[in-house]
Amino acid sequence: MARLVLALLAAALIATGQVPKAEIERRLRAFEDTNFKRELRLQSLFEEAGCTGDNLTEQRVKHAQAPNVICTLPGSTSSEIIVGAHFDFVDRGKGVVDNWSGCSLLPSLFQSLKETAHHHTFVFIGFTNEEEGLVGSRFYVHQLSKEARRNITAMVNLDSLGLTPTKMEQDRADKKLIQALATVARSSKLPLSVMNVHPARSDSDSFQDSRIPAICIHSVTTAAWPILHSPRDQFSAIRLDDYYDTYLLVRAYLAYLDEP
Ligand SMILES: [Zn+2]
Repeated sequence: MARLVLALLAAALIATGQVPKAEIERRLRAFEDTNFKRELRLQSLFEEAGCTGDNLTEQRVKHAQAPNVICTLPGSTSSEIIVGAHFDFVDRGKGVVDNWSGCSLLPSLFQSLKETAHHHTFVFIGFTNEEEGLVGSRFYVHQLSKEARRNITAMVNLDSLGLTPTKMEQDRADKKLIQALATVARSSKLPLSVMNVHPARSDSDSFQDSRIPAICIHSVTTAAWPILHSPRDQFSAIRLDDYYDTYLLVRAYLAYLDEP
């Protein structure tokens, strides 16, 4: 219980860093029509959110044209929380849901956390070529040393948000991370339900495959599934109220996970 109180306090403390809905929408509308341009756009969104200099890097990835984009927010320990989302898309719609909705939220989450002290080092990653077989995230995990992998306490993956109220994958996620997200949703009165989307894989699986605790947050239901990878994947498919609730939930979740 004390942990919960502390976490709620932490969530209240970062309330000052809450990015307004209009700004979240503007960043969502800033999608581009090629993966290469998306990578550059994501970088510029990170820069305007305040992630600059040595904290913002590109990671060249074997077999991928565009690099991974990595924004680091140093903490007081070397323990890391990774927040990831792929920026590439399948060229049959605009790829706003899958997955500009996830990656354009990363700079806002960075912005929400940057003003307060935190224990963990947060690493925000825009992954390349997820749609080609998790290329960017697999590369990222495989180049880490054993020690670096052990330092990762959680990987939170955002993929295809805003179609419906927030969903989480349960079958393939870390149990503690699931429980923690459910706790934060209850205490902050934000909607959350379980929806497994087998057999689809996402970047969280690259981490889970290497036994790094991971969770995938999304918004896909059986009814909404056909929107992905289709001409219907447009800005108009996003329900902005649901999308903003997901931002608020993930933001509170990251503050909660940061508690020692
Ligand atoms: Zn996706």
